[in-house]
Amino acid sequence: MLLKETREKLIPTLKTFFGFDSFREQQQEIIESVLLKKDNVVIMPTGGGKSICFQLPALLFEGVTLVISPLIALMKDQVDGLNANGISADFYNSSQENFEQEEVFEKIFKKELKLLYVAPESLSLLQHILTEEHISCIAIDEAHCISSWGHDFRPSYQQLGFLKNQLPNTPIIALTATADKATRKDITQQLNIPEARQFVASFDRKNIELEVRPGNDRFSQILKFIKSKPTEAGIIYCLSRKSTEQLASKLKQNGIKAASYHAGLNFEERTKTQEDFIYDRLTVICATIAFGMGIDKSNVRWIIHYNMPKNIEGYYQEIGRCGRDGLKANALLFYSYSDVIQLRKFATGASNEDVQIAKLERMKQFSEATTCRRKILLSYFGELLAENCGNCDVCKNPPHFFDGTIIAQKALSVIARLKESEAIGTVIDVLRGAQNATIIDKQYHTLKSHGIGKDISWRDWQQYIIQLINQGYCEIAFHKNNALRLTSFSKKVLFENEVVNLTRPKAYEEQVQIQKKATIKITKKLQKDSLFERLRKLRQEIALAENIPAYLVFSDASLKEMERARPMCESDFLDISGVGQRKLEVYGEDFITEIVAFSNEKIEKRKKNDTHKITYQLYKEGFTIDEISEKRNLKPTTIFSHLAKLYTDGKEVDMYSFVTKEEVEKVRIAKDELESPQALKPYFEYFNAEIDYFKIRLALTMIAKEG
Ligand code: ADP
Ligand code: MG
Repeated sequence: MLLKETREKLIPTLKTFFGFDSFREQQQEIIESVLLKKDNVVIMPTGGGKSICFQLPALLFEGVTLVISPLIALMKDQVDGLNANGISADFYNSSQENFEQEEVFEKIFKKELKLLYVAPESLSLLQHILTEEHISCIAIDEAHCISSWGHDFRPSYQQLGFLKNQLPNTPIIALTATADKATRKDITQQLNIPEARQFVASFDRKNIELEVRPGNDRFSQILKFIKSKPTEAGIIYCLSRKSTEQLASKLKQNGIKAASYHAGLNFEERTKTQEDFIYDRLTVICATIAFGMGIDKSNVRWIIHYNMPKNIEGYYQEIGRCGRDGLKANALLFYSYSDVIQLRKFATGASNEDVQIAKLERMKQFSEATTCRRKILLSYFGELLAENCGNCDVCKNPPHFFDGTIIAQKALSVIARLKESEAIGTVIDVLRGAQNATIIDKQYHTLKSHGIGKDISWRDWQQYIIQLINQGYCEIAFHKNNALRLTSFSKKVLFENEVVNLTRPKAYEEQVQIQKKATIKITKKLQKDSLFERLRKLRQEIALAENIPAYLVFSDASLKEMERARPMCESDFLDISGVGQRKLEVYGEDFITEIVAFSNEKIEKRKKNDTHKITYQLYKEGFTIDEISEKRNLKPTTIFSHLAKLYTDGKEVDMYSFVTKEEVEKVRIAKDELESPQALKPYFEYFNAEIDYFKIRLALTMIAKEG
């Protein structure tokens, strides 16, 4: 059992250094176990909050916590993040100068350093500090890299077993988002920690909205999607290097700050792209799966899969990279049958072909689901969700089934007439009565069923046939040019009148409509002068000055909370989630000043509105302009400008009592001739000072309102 006084320190430490008020699921148990010097294996989804599980104990241990992490390029950001929270952390690697390395050791000897990040390759150079006197805890991040079963095996991780032998009393905490049992077992075996406690947190990331769309017109769909959230950063995953490049260049042509990222680029190019993204100089990265691991950027707002991933593990890991701050985020997957065929090809001939095909099949089921997608996803990880999630496209827009027997009969009979030798494209062509070269060559236009499905669009046929495949009424012969074949169920439909239920494909227009609505909502919200935008700007300025990524100053979630709670003194500011002691001290004043300024401007605006109201009240009570001016101690021109504004806002103001119809007409003509000048003076001069300024203003107000 952990000492009471230690346990009582946990929440205050969490608030002081990380700015959070409470732990997320399992974090506290894990932290207590680490503090009890037990070994631990932690499985938590990407973005779940693994780091705190070793960073917080590190603050309470006397010596340094060694953090083994695979990517040197990202260590600096992690260390910057800790430093920004007032935590003494550093990294050690071969790119450092000698004196920098010496400084690191110095801090360790003086017991000033709390966390030291290193890649496994560097451990051999650290032998002199690898003693129990100096090292209090060892954290192994991305621990799945140890396993050749895993998807990201790194040979250098395999030598980590020596740590337990050399430091038998130092607790080890291994962390990963990869859940499968083989990997987990491999981790404990290779690290020599057979007794390690296993923590498996929920894989549910509720804030990520899941959506799957047919992969037609992908580019225009993506463009619309991105334009609806112009300031939000995201990643688009593609299957090939070439498509990442093509997509990025098309996006750039459309004014979007995009770049591609894949293993074919050299180290410098990759590092630069990664940094540009982290520092908000790029908003979109088009990447192969190589991109994203270890990037802790908390304000990635969306992930798009341009192609279907090859398994659910990969998909989940990738979508996990958005919405780490817990705010709403979007995961959009484009699904097409040609991707399935392509991925099957990749899997064919692999040593574990069966496993790969089975995993692909599960991915396909997820993509084609007509029930809550999150349920399917979580059940894959062995979790049962009692209720539908309400935050996926199926929940939000449940499919409507209808009797599709005739549609099924038409498709199946064409497949039969084609002697089960043609793939989906030709089947649809025959259904729709196409007259292209293939059809004529093969004499398919002479078939009785040629054209029996004219009334249904190509796109819809595609969706219907996919549904028929899913329900087992026909299948794809993957080894025979992907030809569509009948199954034993086909007969029941063709000859026994079995009822087939289909769902109507969402019309493309309908989808566009839904997107449009979403766009309007978002742009409304995205008012440039909102407090959130102003705080974002301030954050960006600070980040530039300090040369750290903006999200390390404050997360989007913290800014959102500041916008809502409007803290105007230090103690209120400290209540914001994500504000710890150091951030209060360093950034508090700037942010509070901005919030106060914003609020004052609001009050000023309101006062202005009030001043109009007072004028209107007096006007309605029958006072003349001069009288109102005197009462209010304001110039008559000011009162006229109030009346003009009130009139524009639709209030009842008798404008013709101040300006005649003829005068308005004159102004209208002048406006045309002068080509709508910006100021009143040109009008005044045009009329040789015969029409007063206030009349010109009122006339222009009336003209503007009439249009
Ligand atoms: P992982 O390593 O599991 O992918 P991180 O440790 O990077 O995830 O955490 C993801 C995000 O969640 C970070 O932005 C972190 O600040 C935030 N976070 C972690 N724990 C908490 C908590 N208890 N309360 C609020 N936010 C948290
Ligand atoms: Mg992490």
